[in-house]
Amino acid sequence: MLPDLERLIRLQQLDTGADEARRTVDGIPSRIADLDTRLTTCAMALDAAKQRLADQKSERQAVEKSLAEVQVRLSRFKDQQMAVKTNKEYTAMQHEIATAEAQVRRFEDAILERMLEADDLAADVVSAERTLQAERTETDRERVMLETERAETQRRLSGTSDERAKLTENIGAAARQLFETVARQRRGVAVVEARDGHCTVCHVRLRPQVFNQVLRNTELVQCDSCMRILYHNPDGGG
Ligand SMILES: [Zn+2]
Repeated sequence: MLPDLERLIRLQQLDTGADEARRTVDGIPSRIADLDTRLTTCAMALDAAKQRLADQKSERQAVEKSLAEVQVRLSRFKDQQMAVKTNKEYTAMQHEIATAEAQVRRFEDAILERMLEADDLAADVVSAERTLQAERTETDRERVMLETERAETQRRLSGTSDERAKLTENIGAAARQLFETVARQRRGVAVVEARDGHCTVCHVRLRPQVFNQVLRNTELVQCDSCMRILYHNPDGGG
C-alpha cells in the first residue's frame, strides 16, 4: 500500500475517534443536568408529600377548634337547661342540646377520619424521603462515572492529538493538503473505503478504471462524486 495512503487512513481513524470523543465530552454537562433534574423531581415530590401532611394537620386542627367550641356551647346549654322555668323552654333547650350533640359526633368522626388519613400521608412522606435518598445515592454514583468518563475521554483526546501531530509530519505535503481540503468540505470525513465498485459513503458507483485503481491502493484516488479519498480494504471483501 502507498505509505501516504496508509497514513491517511490512520489519520482519518484518529480524527473520527477524536470527533466522537469531543461529542462525548460535550454531551456530559447535559447528562449531569439530567441527574440534577431527577434529584429535583424527587425533592419536589417530598415537599409535596410534606405539604399534604401539613395541610391535613391544619384541617384537623380547624375541626378540633370547632369541636371545642361546640363542646363549650353544649355544656352551657346543659347548665341553662337546669335553670329553665317552663316546659316550653326545657323543650327548646333539649332541641339545642340534641343539635350540638349531633355536631360533636360529626366533628369527632371527621377528626378520626383525618387521623387515619394522617397515617397514610405520614407514610407517604417517609416513602418520598427514602426515594430521594436512594436517588441521591444513585445520581452521586452516576455523577462520579460521568466525571471519570470525561477525564478518560479527555486523556484519550490528548493522546490522539500527540499521535496525530507525529503522523502528519510523515505525510507528504500534497497528500496532507488534499486530506485537509476534503475533510473541511466533508465534515471531517476525507478517507473512506470503496467496496463492490462503490464509494461506501456517498454510494455512487465508481467507473471501473477508477475502482481498479482503488483496488491497487498504490495512489490517492478520489471518489468522482463526493471527492473523498478512497481505499480498498483487502479484509473487507469486494
Ligand atoms: Zn463518494
